Amino acid sequence: MENDLLVLKGVKKTYKQKKDRITALKSTDLEIKKGEVLGLVGESGSGKSTLANIIVRLIKSDDGTIVFKGEDISTLKDHEFRRYRRDIQMVFQDPYSSLNPKKTIRYLLEECLKIHEKDMGAQKRLEVVKESLEEVGLDSSYLERYPKSLSGGQRQRVAIALALILRPSLIVLDEAVSALDVSVEAQILNLLLDLREKHGLTYLFISHDLAVVSYVSDRIAVMYKGSIVEIAKADDVISSMAHPYTKALFEASENMAPLIDNKEKKEISSSHCSFCSRCKYRKERCFKEEPTLIEIKEGHSVACFYPLGE
Ligand code: ADP
Ligand code: MG
Repeated sequence: MENDLLVLKGVKKTYKQKKDRITALKSTDLEIKKGEVLGLVGESGSGKSTLANIIVRLIKSDDGTIVFKGEDISTLKDHEFRRYRRDIQMVFQDPYSSLNPKKTIRYLLEECLKIHEKDMGAQKRLEVVKESLEEVGLDSSYLERYPKSLSGGQRQRVAIALALILRPSLIVLDEAVSALDVSVEAQILNLLLDLREKHGLTYLFISHDLAVVSYVSDRIAVMYKGSIVEIAKADDVISSMAHPYTKALFEASENMAPLIDNKEKKEISSSHCSFCSRCKYRKERCFKEEPTLIEIKEGHSVACFYPLGE
């Protein structure tokens, strides 16, 4: 369709593992629409990175077609693909894999422009580098810093600046916030949403965490053992999920265990924790007594016998 930025059809991948061949990605069809955030979620090993790496051409698919902006890029030779390379960028979980620790932030960003914008003068280049840092919330004092002197969140900001500096259409984010603390994670997610709005970007946003994916995505694809098992508008996936696996993922992301069965229910006494039937962390005591609010820190109370973080 006209609206599609990327269309995968019958894309497959098997890997050789010792003497066996394992199928990491079964024959997969997927469309990414211009300007959308498509979330891709599934537990570790479900084939998300394989799909991501095929799209950015870090690896080749065994079969199928990949149409980007109307052209089949799966048949292009490496040198023919070069003109698309800047247009499809990737951000990884570990920025160390994309940030050479021996180079300054300025060097890393300038190098990217030197390769892809050969006619750009030195002064203009520095200007663009400063601008792109500013866009990710880092001032000029970061120019001469090295990746290792930055916090995880700052490093991920630099990785985003690097992905953005060539003004791509599509950014593939593979577990880009998964290594960050929750508060930093939220900042980076909001930054990504702002940048997408500002530049009309399209994201393929990959995470094992459905809560994170549902926060940023317009549509969500759920992957299990190499197949997409459910895909829909984010609201529909969350409010009327149809695949049992999606439900299991959702419950995992909410720290919830499946509802306990009736047999177990009979053993709950009249006084019990109201959340115990769904709580992943429940113990015997939770079925027998009702916890009251207890202050665990100044101004912070919780009605739980086993509060998280203790
Ligand atoms: P995810 O990103 O969802 O965790 P991956 O795409 O990394 O999943 O992996 C899918 C499956 O393919 C896993 O079983 C994994 O062990 C296997 N796999 C991934 N990369 C390779 C590789 N280079 N060689 C062999 N097997 C691989
Ligand atoms: Mg992965």
